[in-house]
Amino acid sequence: MRTLRLVTTLAVAGLLAGGVAVVAATPASAATAVFSVTNNWGNGYQGQVTVTNDTSAPITSWRVEFDLPSSSTVSQSWNAQQTTSGSHYTFANVSWNGTLAAGASTSFGFLVNGTGTPVNCTVNGASCAGGPPPTTPPPTTPPPTTPPPTTGTPVERHGQLRVCGTTMCDKSGARVQLRGISSMWLNWETAPYAENLSALTWMRDNWNLQVIRAAMGVEPAGAYLSDPAKARAQVETIINNAVTAGVYVIVDWHAHEAQNNQSQAVAFFGDLARRYGHLPNVIWEPYNEPLQVSWTNVIKPYHQAVVSAIRAVDPDNIVVLGTPTWSQDVDVASASPVTGTNLMYTLHFYSCTHGASLRAKGDAAIRAGLALFVTEWGASNADGGLDGRACLPEAQSWIDWMKANGISWTAWKLDVGTDTTNLLSPGAPVTGGWTNYLHGHAPFVVANMR
Ligand code: MG
Repeated sequence: MRTLRLVTTLAVAGLLAGGVAVVAATPASAATAVFSVTNNWGNGYQGQVTVTNDTSAPITSWRVEFDLPSSSTVSQSWNAQQTTSGSHYTFANVSWNGTLAAGASTSFGFLVNGTGTPVNCTVNGASCAGGPPPTTPPPTTPPPTTPPPTTGTPVERHGQLRVCGTTMCDKSGARVQLRGISSMWLNWETAPYAENLSALTWMRDNWNLQVIRAAMGVEPAGAYLSDPAKARAQVETIINNAVTAGVYVIVDWHAHEAQNNQSQAVAFFGDLARRYGHLPNVIWEPYNEPLQVSWTNVIKPYHQAVVSAIRAVDPDNIVVLGTPTWSQDVDVASASPVTGTNLMYTLHFYSCTHGASLRAKGDAAIRAGLALFVTEWGASNADGGLDGRACLPEAQSWIDWMKANGISWTAWKLDVGTDTTNLLSPGAPVTGGWTNYLHGHAPFVVANMR
C-alpha cells in the first residue's frame, strides 16, 4: 500500500521583524512540517501545505482535507484542485504534481481570509499528525535533484532567437515562449541573488527557468550613472553565468527617464553588444519603463539611437523596446514602430491594478503586427504589492493570455522583502535551494514556469 505522511506544525504563527510569518515547530518527530504560513497581513494569511511521499515507491495522487473555524475561509488556492463544503476543505493534486517519487515532496498554496489555522487535517484519509506507519524506513539522504524536463539547457535546445511574425521563434523555426524571473534593481538587492551561478542553475533545474533579467538600475544614487563600473560588473557577471548555465539573459537599462542620458545608453549597449552580441543567450532591453511622455517625439528617437548602436556590432539579437506609461502603451507604439529587425515591445502588468483593458491594448498591438515581451509582471498592485496582497485569479487571466499569444515573460523580482512580488523569504541562501523560502506570489510564479 502506498502511504503518505503529511507532517504538521499546526502551530501559532509568529511574526518576524520583517513582517513575515513563521510557524513554530512542534516537538521533533519523524514527520516533517506540512502547514506553514508564508505571508501574513493581519486579517488573513497565505498558507502552504507540503505533501511528502514517505514510501519507497512512487505515488500517483494525493488528497488533503482540513477544517477551518467558521470565522476563516479559503479565498484562493493554487497547485491543487480545491472543493469546499461548509468549513471543510479538500485539496487534490492537479495533473502535474500528483506523481511523487519516493521521498519527494510537493506543495500547494492558499489564501485565508481570517486568522484561523487548519484542524482535523488528513492526507488520503489518514491523520496528518500521525498517518499510517511507513512500510519502509524513511530515506536518510535527501532525494536527488529533479532533472530538467528535457535534455539540454534552454539555449542548447533553442539556440539563436528571432522574431517571427508577432512572436518569437527558435533556431529550428519553432515558436518559443520563454519564462523566467527578473532581478531586483541591482543597486537595491538585499543580497547578490541574481549574480550567483549556483542559484541560477538551481532555478533552471528546479523552476524550469529559461531566462533571467538583469535589471540594472540607472538613475538612483549608487546605480549606473553614479557607479558605472560596479553596475556593469554586476551585469557582466549575470551574462557570464547565463552562458555557463545555458539560459537566456535580458540586459535591462532599468530607467524611467532614459532619454535624458541617451549618450550613456548608446555607449553602454554599443560596448556590450560588441563583446556579447555574438552569443545566442543575450536579449537587449534599452528602456525599462518610460513615463507618460511622447512615443514619437521622445521614446522612439531614443530607441532608434540605441538600436543603431547595437545593430552596428550585433546584427541579430532580439531588442525589447519600452513603451509609454510604464510600458503599457504598446498600442501607441504599434502606430509608429521602430525600423529594424528582431525588435519586440515591452508590456508590463500588475494584476491587482491591470486587467482586461490593458490586455486589449496588447491585443491591438498584436493585430497591428508587434511582437510583445512581458519583461515584468506581478500578481499584485502596481506598486509591487506593498500591502502584501496577491490577485491570483486576475494573474491567471494574464498567464492564459500570454500563453495563448506565445508571449515570453520574466516575473518581478528576485529578492527578500515584504512586498507581494519579492519572491524569497528571510533567510533564503544566496546560492539557491529555495523550496522552503518562497514568498508572496512566488508559488504562483514558479508553478507557471514549470
Ligand atoms: Mg548576435
